[in-house]
Amino acid sequence: MEESRRTSKTGLNGMSPEEAFAVLGDQTRLNIVRVLWTAGVVHEYDDLDDSASTMSFSELRRRVDVRDNGRFNYHLSKLVPHFVWKTEEGYRLSGAGKKLARTVVAVAGGHDVDLSGEMDTECPVCGAEISATYEDQWLRFTCTECGGLFGDAAPSGALLNAPFPAPGLVGRTPDGALRTELYRCMLDMTSMMQGVCPECASVVEGTLSVCDDHDTHGGRCRACGTPFVAWGELRCDSCRYAKRLPVELCVMGLAPVIGFLYARDVNVLTPSLDELVELIQTQMRTTVAENPLRVVTVIGATDRLSLTLDEHLTVVDCSES
Ligand SMILES: [Zn+2]
Ligand SMILES: [Zn+2]
Ligand SMILES: [Zn+2]
Repeated sequence: MEESRRTSKTGLNGMSPEEAFAVLGDQTRLNIVRVLWTAGVVHEYDDLDDSASTMSFSELRRRVDVRDNGRFNYHLSKLVPHFVWKTEEGYRLSGAGKKLARTVVAVAGGHDVDLSGEMDTECPVCGAEISATYEDQWLRFTCTECGGLFGDAAPSGALLNAPFPAPGLVGRTPDGALRTELYRCMLDMTSMMQGVCPECASVVEGTLSVCDDHDTHGGRCRACGTPFVAWGELRCDSCRYAKRLPVELCVMGLAPVIGFLYARDVNVLTPSLDELVELIQTQMRTTVAENPLRVVTVIGATDRLSLTLDEHLTVVDCSES
């Protein structure tokens, strides 16, 4: 049965994550995805038009190097239509197949990564040297002297920790990698505060947690071990992507805050670590109100932007004064 180019009789929405793992759990099938990806048999530009190159069954079978026609057809048919799209002209990767291939590119190791160089950026808390490490696909920036920014909420010395694809480190200095990671974090925040998962586009749920006995006199709070009274947790239940960050950082993903700060020469999307910390420590104040639970973050000294968030991190009030 031929499928038309744009519509699929079988539909694309019937595959659970378990089924997807099962379909991909075979070397021949992953080889098919690899061959199509390597040959560029995809939409050249992301679906601007319907012109995409395809590969014939026999050519695909030859490149995947499977002699047995029936066996090859069996594996190929498992990938259609979710990962491989069958058209009248031949086969190409589907959107999901392309995403899968890109994920492999993003997580592939073996890149010659060297982050040992001395960094120009200093610790924004104490001015000491910062070190960068990359392990388990996480890029971490740590102060070599002080406890860092997050108190007990993160490993000692932590200034910035986030998952980071290895290819993004190639050709970047440790300072460049830091700027790139900050940019990605801020982008993630804008997406998640809109309720959109940056990984899978599912709905993101927000939860506010506050320290009931917050007291930062004489350093860090004894009750929570952090300088921050309120934290936002943003979580995607579909793919389990999640972030837990001080409310001050969460609100930086909101358009009124981005606009307010941009008018005052701070580009929230491309801050330096210094700028970000200075902003949080000197320009932002957060207080908690009970019954109902609300958190109010005020930004600025003379002219101010005030944001009130509820227990789901939804903005319930936003005013400038
Ligand atoms: Zn430090
Ligand atoms: Zn506390
Ligand atoms: Zn997700």
